[in-house]
Amino acid sequence: MKNTSSSKVISIDNYRLASQGNPDSLDITRLALKLQQTLELTPLMQTFCHETASMVPCDSVRYQANENTLSYQTGEIRVHRCRYQLELESETLGEIECTRDKPFTVRETELIERLLGLLIYPLRNALLYQKAVVEAHRDPLTQISNRTAFDKALARETCSYKRHDKAFSLMVIDIDHFKQVNDTYGHLAGDTVLKHVAQVIQNTVRRSDEVFRYGGEEFVVILSNTKIEGARFIAERVRMAIKNLVIKSREQLKITASIGIAATGTTNDVNDTLYHADKALYEAKENGRDKVCTRV
Ligand code: GH3
Ligand code: MG
Ligand code: MG
Repeated sequence: MKNTSSSKVISIDNYRLASQGNPDSLDITRLALKLQQTLELTPLMQTFCHETASMVPCDSVRYQANENTLSYQTGEIRVHRCRYQLELESETLGEIECTRDKPFTVRETELIERLLGLLIYPLRNALLYQKAVVEAHRDPLTQISNRTAFDKALARETCSYKRHDKAFSLMVIDIDHFKQVNDTYGHLAGDTVLKHVAQVIQNTVRRSDEVFRYGGEEFVVILSNTKIEGARFIAERVRMAIKNLVIKSREQLKITASIGIAATGTTNDVNDTLYHADKALYEAKENGRDKVCTRV
């Protein structure tokens, strides 16, 4: 751990946790047990920040995993800070900062450092777990969300529709005659096409729309807060973007895609929205491909 205010480096291996007879030892043992009870980052940091603030009087305790990702904070930030970069075996685990109105005493910073010693392994485990969860929801070829992620996202949208009547549409996109691409140019070229198509779909839909690789050469987009007219407009844009795509493999490759869309409200049962979008896709295929079809 490195205290960034004073550049103090403390090796985690040298920590001696609360000794018997120390007035803080019961609290510290309790904290150690609590930190071992979860692999989820948010509850872990909630516990740590809350318990630290109760043992060392401070107005705020904040954890930041890294510059771009989540942070967790209790209380309001004040002028006097005590900041640590957490490192374990040269792996960066984020930054912890405690603040309050008056300076921290040496005893207090020592206690904070001791508490951080308890946090570091549970934190490392929680970060590894979080990474594994993210990987389990990502398609390794295209790097977009996979079918597992789609099933969860669809369940969330469906729930939100039932509770708050929040409409959504689904778009199912299937590359036309993709087998021929593999057969003519090889599987590696086919993989390149899939990566480009995933990228093009993501760049064409709105930021709020979630794109998933459903399987093979099929993609699904959840269009939140979107009725069928809006979905049709976006689907046309996606169809054109895929048609205009020129993929440089050994030769220049062009493809098209067929798209089926369905929206809540136009289907009797919200749980059938995917079924209807899929049916619409088949209509698009049967009607000559490179088309958008809707089930109403
Ligand atoms: P249609 O226009 O009716 O959709 O015809 P299609 O050829 O696109 O559909 P079909 O289901 O006959 O073939 C899909 C092909 O997609 C067959 C399969 O080998 C290929 N495929 C599935 N996943 C991958 C992948 O990850 N990489 C590559 N290169 N090919 C894949
Ligand atoms: Mg296909
Ligand atoms: Mg298919």
